Amino acid sequence: MVQAIRGMRDVLPEEGRRWRTVEHILESVLHAYAYEEVHLPLLEFTELFSRGVGEATDIVEKEMYSLADRDGDSLTLRPEGTAGCVRVLQQHGLLFNQTQRVFYRGPMFRYERPQKGRYRQFYQMGAEAFGMAGPDVDAELLAMTAAFWGALGIESSVRLEINTLGSSESRASYREALVAYLSRYESELDEDSQRRLVTNPLRILDSKVERTRELLSGAPVLGDFMDAQGSTHFEGLCGMLETLGIDYEVNPQLVRGLDYYNLTVFEWITSELGAQGTICGGGRYDGLVEQLGGRPTPGAGFALGLERVLLLYEQRNLPTRPAADVYVAVMSPAEQVYALKAADRLRLSVPELRIRVHAGGGKLKNQLRKADQCGASWAAIIGADEAAAGAITLKQLKTGEQATLPIDEAAGRLRPSAENAH
Ligand code: ATP
Ligand code: MG
Repeated sequence: MVQAIRGMRDVLPEEGRRWRTVEHILESVLHAYAYEEVHLPLLEFTELFSRGVGEATDIVEKEMYSLADRDGDSLTLRPEGTAGCVRVLQQHGLLFNQTQRVFYRGPMFRYERPQKGRYRQFYQMGAEAFGMAGPDVDAELLAMTAAFWGALGIESSVRLEINTLGSSESRASYREALVAYLSRYESELDEDSQRRLVTNPLRILDSKVERTRELLSGAPVLGDFMDAQGSTHFEGLCGMLETLGIDYEVNPQLVRGLDYYNLTVFEWITSELGAQGTICGGGRYDGLVEQLGGRPTPGAGFALGLERVLLLYEQRNLPTRPAADVYVAVMSPAEQVYALKAADRLRLSVPELRIRVHAGGGKLKNQLRKADQCGASWAAIIGADEAAAGAITLKQLKTGEQATLPIDEAAGRLRPSAENAH
């Protein structure tokens, strides 16, 4: 058999059910904040990402899945969603002189070293807000992410780190000071950081190499280069977070990888997933739209990694929903069509129910075993008498209790067990 490609994870039905629950909860929060969904192509011109994400980033330097189209164009499987979002809104005239709040979801592709919580195909949900320059939108985005964790019940496993990168002017002078400082220790820096000293020095602050980290502890800090715009924005945000009751820590070394970030940056971090501790990251990127060829438009957003969120969610050990709630057993082939119709009636009147109709005949005992195997709480048994009477026999599998009822009445009995399920 042909095997899956390294780093491309298969999701099997049991995980698929938890996945659906988590995605549903996240989506409900996004809808509750009136963010609207956009669908982005999986493939874009490579240039969108080299310009949008930045040449000197990990993603563009070494993680992109690029391929030549048949006519020679260089295309790339999207490694992230922000650049695509800007492209879509810009191309359809939805950015100029207006505000937008959108979200996207789906697989992203990065050539990384696969490990727990880090894959080559992974799934992100992300939100972006355009046309609003103030810290109020940053606060809204953070409130929305905090609402995610609350709704999932993982709020005690995550903490928020924020920082400000200041305006592009203050970042430029900081960059100069940082390069001047680190250049004195150039030979002691790790190889990546030596290269970044030229290409993307701020990114060095993110290094995990111990000696580099030691050197960084004496480096100039961004906060000392802050200008009035940067400080006002950041103080505004911090004040709103406090009013909203969202706890945060300021981490002056938090930079985020991409060139286009300015002012606010943030990460939601957990210590429960080893090295893959960031479940969600984002910030403000007022320069991005212009960098991609549009008119200057403020923007801010975040993306979360669904696999990592799911890993945290799984630690709560909540009972998972079974594959089916009701298993319809059919006594003989003559009743199969009646069984299909009866199941459809139940599905219509209780849409949350998952109803699986037995196929392939066989003894009732074997059919009931299948009902157990798929975790169903109920069997709906259908024989000649039920078919003649327009009824079903509903059997509660745990207690063995059973009753023959008209279909609508049976639906009424089943309704409560479906109501709390996702
Ligand atoms: P990391 O530092 O872990 O590589 P990143 O800064 O590259 O993360 P972003 O580009 O900000 O990540 O993506 C947002 C989120 O997407 C991350 O916080 C993480 O939850 C998730 N993510 C990123 N890369 C991967 C991956 N290879 N596999 C699974 N999830 C990922
Ligand atoms: Mg990364």
